[in-house]
Amino acid sequence: MKAVVLHQAGQPTAVEDLTLRPVGNHEVRVQLAASGVCHTDLSVRDGAIPVLLPCTLGHEGAGIVTDVGADVTTVAPGDHVVLTWNAPCRSCLHCLRGEAQLCPHGLAHAFGEPYAQGAAGPVWPEMGAGTLAEATLLPAAAVVPVDKSLPLDHAALLACGVTTGVGAVIRTAAVRPGESVLVVGCGGVGLAAIQAARLAGAAPIIAADRVAGQLPAAVANGATDTVDTAGADLASAVRDLTGGIGVDHGIEVVGKPATIRATYEATRRGGKVTLVGAAGIDETVTLPALSLMADGKTIQGSVYGASDPARDIPVLAKLALRGRLDLEALVTRRIGIDEVEAAFADMAAGRGARSVVRFSVTT
Ligand SMILES: [Zn+2]
Ligand SMILES: [Zn+2]
Repeated sequence: MKAVVLHQAGQPTAVEDLTLRPVGNHEVRVQLAASGVCHTDLSVRDGAIPVLLPCTLGHEGAGIVTDVGADVTTVAPGDHVVLTWNAPCRSCLHCLRGEAQLCPHGLAHAFGEPYAQGAAGPVWPEMGAGTLAEATLLPAAAVVPVDKSLPLDHAALLACGVTTGVGAVIRTAAVRPGESVLVVGCGGVGLAAIQAARLAGAAPIIAADRVAGQLPAAVANGATDTVDTAGADLASAVRDLTGGIGVDHGIEVVGKPATIRATYEATRRGGKVTLVGAAGIDETVTLPALSLMADGKTIQGSVYGASDPARDIPVLAKLALRGRLDLEALVTRRIGIDEVEAAFADMAAGRGARSVVRFSVTT
């Protein structure tokens, strides 16, 4: 099978032929139909996120089950599945408290034995998924069945970006009708957050990005107002749009100290700041100490949209099938497996939402 393989952090990837090892008792083999290219893949390629190398990139995929291990009862060959990088253990403190997104064992399979062999030796799957390939192997707990009427190149987005963006707004921020929402950063996750704010009945929904070319997509996904942060101070622009008050909810989807600080400043006294963007591991953010107390704002992190894949991916699929989530509006372009490096270049330049790799499915 063909796969997008990274041998050394900081170097370009290459499409290579790999051979998957046999399916383990608790595993499933999935033929990929589609995989989004997520910003985390670029962070892995650039070495900002350490992984076992060489690895097949990709963790936002959907496809069709082709083989299951002897002990697998939850899916069968032919099932359409979304592949999730978080396979919660169901028995740790976090899982038992309904915090599957914080399970410390959810990624354990990513650091186990290699899943495939290439010409130069063993290969691991990025985040246990390795979805930028024609096929992959995962624990059965890391695949979620979805309705076959949902197109698989839409279903793939439910594996990471949409779950993260929608969950941040619906679950972590718990936006209510009529509340005002600011989304800072209008890539794939930010646009999903904007759609979720629309779904929640928020108004206004203010979208901000440093690349003005991203703002029309924000409007298409539900933003009522936009701020080009290359040419305006975010906090003062947001105050102008909210009668001088600031927003009820600031949703930061960039992961930079400057945008975290700006989102905090644009959020009203007593409002909630929800942090979705992944910052570099060595970065720190400075906030005014008196304001942290006196302005009564809440700052909360949201990882994977505070979602449990088995519980929430089917909900998102239902919303998409009934037209309440517009997954097509999040797809910037469909590409082939040999165009992933070009998708990274677009991403690094802040262009577009999601490039989706499509594979020809032969089962
Ligand atoms: Zn991702
Ligand atoms: Zn757990």
